[in-house]
Amino acid sequence: MPVLAIDAGTTGVTALIVNEDGRIDGRGYREFAQHFPEPSWVEHVPEEIWQATLAACRIALDRSGTTPSCVGITNQRETAVVWEARTLAAPRPAIVWQDRRTAGVCARLREAGHEPRVAELTGLRLDPYFTGSKFTWMAENDPRSWEEVTGGRAVVGTVDSYLVARMTGGARHVTDPSNASRTLLYDLEAGGWSAELCELFGVPENALPEIVPNHGEIGRTDPEAFLGLDLPISGMAGDQQAALFGQTCFAPGDVKCTYGTGSFILINTGNEIVRSEAGLLTTVAWQTPSGEITYALEGSIFVTGAAVQWLRDGLGLIDTAPESEALARTVPDSGGVVFVPALTGLGAPHWDPDARGTIFGITRGTTRGHLARATLEAIAFEVRDVVEVMTGAAGLKMPALKADGGASGNDLLMQFQADQLGTPVERPAIQETTALGAAFLAGLGSGLWSSPGELRATWNLQRRFDPGQRDDAAYARWLKAVDRSRSWA
Ligand code: ADP
Repeated sequence: MPVLAIDAGTTGVTALIVNEDGRIDGRGYREFAQHFPEPSWVEHVPEEIWQATLAACRIALDRSGTTPSCVGITNQRETAVVWEARTLAAPRPAIVWQDRRTAGVCARLREAGHEPRVAELTGLRLDPYFTGSKFTWMAENDPRSWEEVTGGRAVVGTVDSYLVARMTGGARHVTDPSNASRTLLYDLEAGGWSAELCELFGVPENALPEIVPNHGEIGRTDPEAFLGLDLPISGMAGDQQAALFGQTCFAPGDVKCTYGTGSFILINTGNEIVRSEAGLLTTVAWQTPSGEITYALEGSIFVTGAAVQWLRDGLGLIDTAPESEALARTVPDSGGVVFVPALTGLGAPHWDPDARGTIFGITRGTTRGHLARATLEAIAFEVRDVVEVMTGAAGLKMPALKADGGASGNDLLMQFQADQLGTPVERPAIQETTALGAAFLAGLGSGLWSSPGELRATWNLQRRFDPGQRDDAAYARWLKAVDRSRSWA
């Protein structure tokens, strides 16, 4: 009996029906709206995420014509959601991980000297990216919604928790360690919510979800709430950890990069908490029902595929994201154009919330093609920035980079990436690795598969991009451009 895997991503929800041999029997996708009410703000309407989830699942179920035996969930991480415990209605928009409005909250806490302690407890940094400061902002700027939280009528969480609440008809308020470890409220060494951090960010601990392992008994769907289905929810993880799992990166040293809205490079560090001084994050990868935790080191880049989206929606240069490849191929190189897509600030390894997007080197001869090519090159440069730090810090020699996510379908980008890294880039047969990871976790949790080793056998290579000539001059130009994009806002 197959698994229903739900990937509630940043731009849309994907649902997959995955059968025992890891093949996909049905697929559904529904995009939902992105709201930008002010510069640097990014919001989602929780109800729209839920409706997109129902629609995507309905499509996948209809196409496969089978009844799944269990459900796995993966989600955009760090996004802050508030909902009424009883009605499950969400009174205010969710603040999305890309949102930069809490730069001031973070600066204030940093000036008060809290950053070293926060980093020590969480493995993260004081950056608007994470959930904690988003709740602080709500408490300070949306007192009406927040009174519901402090009064115990509303609860808080990330998208995983919100979806489980909706799917179980409000029976469960849970999250998992991979999501919890991105909130700035989770104590990495102790493996639970930190009272000290809840106090610092002003979040009532009793409004937070219970933390449960990434596979096993998480909840049960309520047929009245969820498409008439009564199924165990038996796997759950944040999208990047799910992708690491879906790429079968089970051994310490295994590394993957997901090219979606942003790009996220994760390396499995086993049961060791490895800390980075060079701009990488320490995070939980997953926890087994017996309590064993696997950790990861992560480089989070905020805007990669989103820069392609901006070419499409902001500039109208292309009609669809894949067209960026054909457009970029209309020119032999970027013609000296360098685009730093710091549209929401810079993440790893630079961490500058005040950096902004910049385009350098425009001349009378610059065309749409050059801009498209510079955008794809920028994605490869951004990933190289992180990999250089990662291989340096973790003393890792990377034999190959496993790539996945929407933009990994772009052959030109994958070739740029191999060239820039000087290592091969491997693209699996199934590029929806995030959803696949959720399916794997759910299947393990429900006993469909008995061990990760069994899953590794289902991983197949679709194409390998071998490195060609490495253009270090172009990379040097990129680094100069990044420098000039900083501290702009
Ligand atoms: P998410 O899970 O973050 O919503 P996806 O993995 O679904 O992201 O990937 C969607 C992102 O990838 C979008 O930002 C889109 O612009 C980009 N994208 C999709 N296909 C391509 C392509 N062929 N070339 C470049 N970018 C692409």
